[in-house]
Amino acid sequence: MARPPLQSQAPPDLRRLPGEFLEVFRYGRQALALVWQTSHALTVWLALLTVVVGALPALIALIGARIVDAVVAAANVGGALGPVLELVAIEGVVVALLALAMRAQALANTLLRDQLGHRVNVMILEKALTLDLEHFEDSEFYDRLTRARREASARPLSMVMRSFGLAQNLVQLVSFAVLLVHFSPWAVLLLVLAGLPGFIAEARFSNEAFRLFRWRSAERRMQAYLETVIAREDHAKEVKLFALGRRLLDRYIAIFHRLYAEDRRLAVRRDTWGFLLGLLATLVLYAGYAWVAVSAVRGAISIGEMTMYLLLFRQGQAAVSGALGAVSGLYEDNLYLSTLYEYLEAPSRPPGGKATAGPLPGDGLRLENVGFTYPGTSEPALVDVSLHLAPGSSLALVGANGSGKTTLIKLLTRLYVPTTGRILLDGLDIVDWDVEALRARFGVIFQDFARYQMQVGENIGAGDQSGFEDEERWRVAAEQGRAAPFIETLPEGYHTQLGKWFQNGRELSGGQWQKVALSRAFMRRDADILVLDEPTSAMDAQAEVEVFDHFRRLTQGRMAILISHRFSTVRLADQIVVLDGGRVAERGSHEELMRADGIYAHLFTLQARAYQ
Ligand code: ADP
Repeated sequence: MARPPLQSQAPPDLRRLPGEFLEVFRYGRQALALVWQTSHALTVWLALLTVVVGALPALIALIGARIVDAVVAAANVGGALGPVLELVAIEGVVVALLALAMRAQALANTLLRDQLGHRVNVMILEKALTLDLEHFEDSEFYDRLTRARREASARPLSMVMRSFGLAQNLVQLVSFAVLLVHFSPWAVLLLVLAGLPGFIAEARFSNEAFRLFRWRSAERRMQAYLETVIAREDHAKEVKLFALGRRLLDRYIAIFHRLYAEDRRLAVRRDTWGFLLGLLATLVLYAGYAWVAVSAVRGAISIGEMTMYLLLFRQGQAAVSGALGAVSGLYEDNLYLSTLYEYLEAPSRPPGGKATAGPLPGDGLRLENVGFTYPGTSEPALVDVSLHLAPGSSLALVGANGSGKTTLIKLLTRLYVPTTGRILLDGLDIVDWDVEALRARFGVIFQDFARYQMQVGENIGAGDQSGFEDEERWRVAAEQGRAAPFIETLPEGYHTQLGKWFQNGRELSGGQWQKVALSRAFMRRDADILVLDEPTSAMDAQAEVEVFDHFRRLTQGRMAILISHRFSTVRLADQIVVLDGGRVAERGSHEELMRADGIYAHLFTLQARAYQ
């Protein structure tokens, strides 16, 4: 796998900074809007508290200076003790207020974090509902989805909190500057300059950390996958029997070591630079200290003023690096938010047409020179397929693995759109159909049907939204799909929880799952196109015969499409199409194809002989 080279070991490049710096606020507005929509009240509270927490330290420093001067006056001139104690009491109250405001801030933050985290997760999942199958099968896009899910959900709040933090530091600095400017305007400048180099380094390294994070998503995905294989019950059988465990774990460990080496390099550089630049800031700060001390010795300022300026210098420096740290944190949040918004803004396919009926209601399905190539591949999966399936008739698709049978079904149900040619339902191109209306016409069971870890009944009900919780309809569909007899023997009947993820979950056999899936397809009473993609491969022979008998009765007036490798059932179809390498190789009824003595006849004889 080609990976971009890692950042060179050179120190941060200062020239590139201004452009990147502006990027910091690119998603700030969206993040703020998100927080505001989540809770007006909490946002307002946070803003108010930010100002309070920002302004109080300057007030405390000012009172502190008054206390020292009052003490000096009282000691030297024999002044009264009253004003000193009064000032101490006032400072105590202000400090208590500050503590209260900080607590309230933390509380508002916690509440907002929970609400916002949930909101962002819902946004991510809602977007997932609008995506095409194509997106899920596209590894790059899937990466984005995983990254957004794992990393980005906490970022909008973090970004807003940091913006507030920044504002708070700025309020603090301005209030300090107001006091410090009495000493010297240069002192204010000194304070700001002390923090700047540290910030520049931080911003650069955040950028690098993010780039690392992006490049790695494929590796992280592999790690997550290996975890699943090693630690989940559905893989446990094979992992044990084939003794795969150790080998998989070794791979997992190797990935960690590779990632760790990169992380360590970055962390060491980040900390080295951080230390050196921090040292520089300390030097500048102590130069300021010396200046204040000298001024006090010369009598230019009082002792009280000296303590205040020293405090302002120390706290001011902390506020500067706090502000700059917030900016570099914002930068990082912004970078992570870009993955969230890249994902949320990914184009979903336009919903297509609005039609809910075609001009020729009895025409059925028509494929005209349909061709399809999966995105990202060069070999077409289907080439020039033309077919007509009238209501009341059935079609069987036959062909080797990979010949394009399932792809054809995906096109019919508009999970994908043909690359060339078109598909008509009732005389109207399916692209012009309303997707919901189109899909409501189909009852499909795929080879790799879903096994929902829910109740058996719900597993059946899933086939039709309107009947998801309709017990009566579950039973009817289960009868048709031949699942009813075994469901009735389950401890809680239709309410038995399936799957091992949850307590008391029952696991079903492969054939039983298929019956459940088949019943799910029968839930769609109104669907007039039934598609069975190898529905019975795991069922016993008796069950298969029953299912097909029933299937044929059911398909009167409907269209049925069947994919199967069992010729005993394929031969029952009115029309058989043999696919070979994505092309139609043969077509006709069983008798016609046998007479033609081609691929079909050969395969049929081969299988028939095996049963003799
Ligand atoms: P069948 O159902 O006949 O076994 P498919 O329709 O699943 O065959 O596959 C037809 C061809 O398309 C195969 O060559 C397969 O590798 C390819 N293919 C199937 N699904 C995808 C996909 N999601 N992305 C890329 N290629 C695919």
